[in-house]
Amino acid sequence: MANERTLSIIKPDAVAKNVIGEIYSRFEKAGLSIVASRMMHLTQEQAEGFYAEHKERPFFNDLVAFMTSGPVVVQALEGEGAILKNRDLMGATNPKEADAGTIRADFATSIDANAVHGSDSAASAEREIAYFFSDNEICPRG
Ligand code: GDP
Ligand code: MG
Repeated sequence: MANERTLSIIKPDAVAKNVIGEIYSRFEKAGLSIVASRMMHLTQEQAEGFYAEHKERPFFNDLVAFMTSGPVVVQALEGEGAILKNRDLMGATNPKEADAGTIRADFATSIDANAVHGSDSAASAEREIAYFFSDNEICPRG
């Protein structure tokens, strides 16, 4: 499997639950390295731009409202097969359908307050990492 990078966000519900460290620990135990990281409170424009692909979906306004409701932690993760590995660690979008032991099964509250975001493809990973981090903010591991 190729060495990859993916964009992850710890959403406002998980920050409020004080489980940033627990989630980081899951990334690291799975062999993913945090190569860029920032805590921030997204503006409406930042959240709308990030989720532009969902603009026509009925839940778009709720999603933007939720993502701007409190601070988030945004990180780039690096490792073998990082994109799929992170999606596996996250579990299904709806926490009721997420496998036991996944981040969403353990920490999510509902389909919108679902603890984490993770890029779903190589193309989204590239766009989403560049959305938050410039090249000199990414610190690759050897
Ligand atoms: P993800 O890639 O697993 O995060 O899921 P999607 O890309 O399909 O959706 C993006 C985000 O929109 C999800 O993580 C949820 O927070 C939210 N979302 C998706 N589907 C629904 C829905 O049916 N209702 C609501 N309220 N939010 C949703
Ligand atoms: Mg998605």
